[in-house]
Amino acid sequence: MNIIDLHCDALLKLTTLEAASFAEDVRMHVNHKRLQLGQIKAQVFAIFIDPEIPQNQQFLEVIRQMEAFHTHVLQTEGMVHITDWAQLELLAPHEIGAILSLEGCGAIGEDLTKLTAVLDAGVKLVGLTWNEENAVAHGAEQEASLGLKPFGKEVIQILNDRDIIIDVSHLNEQSFWDVLPLAKHIIASHSNARALCDHPRNLTDAQAKALVKHGGHIHVVYFPLFISEQDATLEQLVDHVEHLAHLVGVEHIGLGSDFDGIGVTVKGLAHAGEAQNLLEALRTRFSAEEVQGIASQNFKRYVKKAATR
Ligand SMILES: [Zn+2]
Repeated sequence: MNIIDLHCDALLKLTTLEAASFAEDVRMHVNHKRLQLGQIKAQVFAIFIDPEIPQNQQFLEVIRQMEAFHTHVLQTEGMVHITDWAQLELLAPHEIGAILSLEGCGAIGEDLTKLTAVLDAGVKLVGLTWNEENAVAHGAEQEASLGLKPFGKEVIQILNDRDIIIDVSHLNEQSFWDVLPLAKHIIASHSNARALCDHPRNLTDAQAKALVKHGGHIHVVYFPLFISEQDATLEQLVDHVEHLAHLVGVEHIGLGSDFDGIGVTVKGLAHAGEAQNLLEALRTRFSAEEVQGIASQNFKRYVKKAATR
């Protein structure tokens, strides 16, 4: 069964691992062979810039990762750059969609030209922060009471004008609440339920409900420490799906692995090639149709709706 995965950090590995290759490099959770094996029909590739990199070098890293997306990912036979959501429905059986996202706006500083340049390059989802504070807003590791900044409103305006999906997964609580009423298209690309795992990267029940009320979807993340602890199981990840499904409706849930951005993995879900194991686990508690929704159909419906709003 086909999967659409809303988050991975393969571009970071492609630009930092020595002699990395997208074809079947086993150091990559996400490579072409594993995407095929796991029946990943479309994969979001995040541009993630380590906030430790000096500000004046960060945008160069953005360009390096976009270059890696072109030279490694898109040069692989069958990988198709999704620049229009309608393309998701047009992929041939052997083709896999590749989608760009920007994980945090730190690298653009206070320069909207850098933002629009990234959007012109085909970025379809933008997270306003990673865990840090930047010129736009405050991230998950910042004090919960500090929120969106005035420059952030300008950024949101541009994202709304271009129908870009705003990703709230890394925002702290106040930024989340500030962004919610302003964002035209909103999603949590890789977050779980804080009621089951108390981590600032996860959504409280109130956040999850409000997000979906504003038209958003929640994509659960496979990182053990956002599920429960180091030795988290597939069943515990399914617990998160079940909790969120009861809260907001299973038709608003999807998947966002965070592969290549995580140092530990769930047993049975060690890389993209094992993604079908999660669907197997989901089938023990959800109908075939519901699992298909979680795997890909809910997101397809989301973007179809987004295109007509
Ligand atoms: Zn992340």
